Amino acid sequence: MANKTIGFIGLGIMGLPMAGHLQAAGHTIVAFDLSPKAVALGAEAGYQMVDSCQAAAAKADVVISMVPDSPDVEKVYLGENGVLAGARKGTLLIDMSTISPVTAVDVAKAAADRGCPMLDAPVSGGDVGAREARLSIMVGGEPEVFEQAVPLFALMGTPTLCGPSGAGQTVKACNQIQVAMNFVGMAEALVLGAKAGVAPEIVLKVLSGGYAQTRVMDVRGPRIVKGDYAPGFRARFHYKDLNIIREAARAYGASLPASALAHELFTAMIANDWGDLDHSAVVKVIEKLSNCELPVED
Ligand code: NAD
Repeated sequence: MANKTIGFIGLGIMGLPMAGHLQAAGHTIVAFDLSPKAVALGAEAGYQMVDSCQAAAAKADVVISMVPDSPDVEKVYLGENGVLAGARKGTLLIDMSTISPVTAVDVAKAAADRGCPMLDAPVSGGDVGAREARLSIMVGGEPEVFEQAVPLFALMGTPTLCGPSGAGQTVKACNQIQVAMNFVGMAEALVLGAKAGVAPEIVLKVLSGGYAQTRVMDVRGPRIVKGDYAPGFRARFHYKDLNIIREAARAYGASLPASALAHELFTAMIANDWGDLDHSAVVKVIEKLSNCELPVED
């Protein structure tokens, strides 16, 4: 995997720095994004910007996509001027967006029909993980295709083969269930404390020293105390992921009552126009339900 041409689709918060690590390792980036701002940032980073997914794929040995949601991935690969219209037979396709496992399997089948092996490879680790090349990469696909992609994944983080096509997205959904539960649990703990007159920083200090400690609490707790909800990971993306979780639960026959509750709380975030805040801002929903405002530290 030396000096390859990589077609990179989607230069947002995650995609832009991820492509940067590939370029720094000597690969050529040929990129496409719908947003003029992302196009300008890509050009500034030295990527060769083209005007469609098809054009990026036509020049590429490997195509990587990092776009928001399942319909975006369908459009990128299957749409008019999409990747499958441009990719040569044998081109390795890797979708790193977080989407429905069901869609991931469908798109990989369409790619296989065109002679292109495909992996689903969503990530966790957030914008910081993307910038520092410390993403946890959850991969679904054939083992020999995975092995081919490992040197590229290693430039962005640590890959784990989770199983066949779709398994990476399934594990990402599992990850998002656990993270949502951590945020909702922390939110309720902080609001109960505040209602009873215990300062949020005391609740966080004590909980983070025992069995209740979580990484979510360590990273986001101190920012909540300061009223800082700048993303990070936007609530509307976690709402999207909870939709994916519910869709996957229906498709595979899993009963996930707490995920359904978390979905309702994130629906309230969208309804209150908090979708562009960090997902930790779910505490604002619990504050509203309890008619309580957490005290904010200066
Ligand atoms: P973003 O909105 O910052 O970037 C997405 C980019 O994709 C945008 O620049 C957009 O213009 C582009 N795009 C959308 N549709 C397109 C299309 N059809 N063709 C070309 N470009 C298109 O989003 P992000 O934060 O980079 O997240 C991307 C994916 O990574 C999402 O699935 C998200 O859930 C996942 N993710 C994000 C984080 C995070 O912390 N931001 C962490 C883990 C996973």
